[in-house]
Amino acid sequence: MKKIILLIMGIIVIVGSAGAQQHNHSHSHGKVQAKGYAAMDDKGLLIPYEFERRAVGGNDLLVELEYCGICHSDVHDVFNDWGISSYPNIPGHEMIGKVVETGKNVTLFKVGDHVGLGAVVISCGECEKCKAGEEQYCTNPQTDEHGNMVSVAGYSNKTVVNEHFAIRIPDGAPLEKLGPIMCAGITVYSPLKALNIKQGDKLAVAGFGGLGHLAVQYAKAFGADVTVFDLTEDKRALAAELGAERYINVNNPTEMDNLGGSFDYIISTISSHYDVNQYLGMLKTHGEMVIVGLPARSEAPSVNILEMPFGTKISKWLMGGIPQTQEVMDFSVRNGIYPMVEVIPVQQVNEAIKNVKEGKVHFRYVIDLKTIK
Ligand code: NDP
Ligand code: ZN
Repeated sequence: MKKIILLIMGIIVIVGSAGAQQHNHSHSHGKVQAKGYAAMDDKGLLIPYEFERRAVGGNDLLVELEYCGICHSDVHDVFNDWGISSYPNIPGHEMIGKVVETGKNVTLFKVGDHVGLGAVVISCGECEKCKAGEEQYCTNPQTDEHGNMVSVAGYSNKTVVNEHFAIRIPDGAPLEKLGPIMCAGITVYSPLKALNIKQGDKLAVAGFGGLGHLAVQYAKAFGADVTVFDLTEDKRALAAELGAERYINVNNPTEMDNLGGSFDYIISTISSHYDVNQYLGMLKTHGEMVIVGLPARSEAPSVNILEMPFGTKISKWLMGGIPQTQEVMDFSVRNGIYPMVEVIPVQQVNEAIKNVKEGKVHFRYVIDLKTIK
């Protein structure tokens, strides 16, 4: 299968599977046979799909995958919303699994350990970004000896990964809730940490979905005063339940009035079109708007530099590196911060994707990968 890493708009989308050349016990010799679900074209319909992972190398783990979250990026990806997808397309980058085999040089994990795996499963290890523990921004995309990019492809039963990219799971943590920390969690935790939020800072979370509901919980843990923006009335109570001080239904015009100059920070996790200029106007002087939501190319908002208030900043973020992903995993478990999840069998994946697209999920579907037959 074709493998590809694409660097577009600052996001790395890694899809596909890998090939390499050693052996492992469970699958005669060479490559590991895996079963997953793939979209064959941009109609986005997922069907059962068998493919090969690379053989287990010296530094690799063979991981039997157990759970994978459905991120809105998977939806953008299978429908080619960003214009960068390749097919067959096996989505999924919020994985939890169990190590069932280790390469001879592995030191960090042993058979039976549970690990988390996100979208960052390969990097050169040598560039400035990798050395700084920001592997997601690696400037030298790697290939295996077949010239193929290594895969993520989380909607599947097995994967092979270098131990460097595996996240240790604290004992006793609820496995079915941990997958989304590998993407939704780290993607909001990383900028919130960098903003160095202090007690009482005024923070807005725009878009209250998978990423947004974790952003609210981390921001509350850091002491922020949190205002949530989303489209529907039915999420108002949930925002309060997670500790948000305020909820703004953006479809209710009176609620959007008089918010000019209100916030130190805004984090936008919005997945579709919105007026970014309206949010910039809500920042205080020297305030910052953090963009993590990545709408489809046809719906991407544009910044009007004349309307943008003087003294404000905009930044754009991509997930987080491996050390910080371990940090957010440990932080989440220590503080009991988890996504609200609905676990589904893989046979319901297409219905779930449709619901994510239509905004009908509170807040993350997680596929039970043990249901892959
Ligand atoms: P979800 O669908 O779970 O959440 C998006 C939320 O935004 C929904 O609650 C949706 O409401 C809400 N929303 C949509 N339009 C508006 C609007 N105009 N104003 C306010 N709220 C709105 O998606 P995820 O949280 O999984 O992902 C969010 C985005 O982040 C996606 O674009 C995804 O691709 C991107 N992403 C980026 C990453 C990065 O590294 N930068 C990493 C992971 C994801 P409703 O449900 O009612 O439609
Ligand atoms: Zn994601």
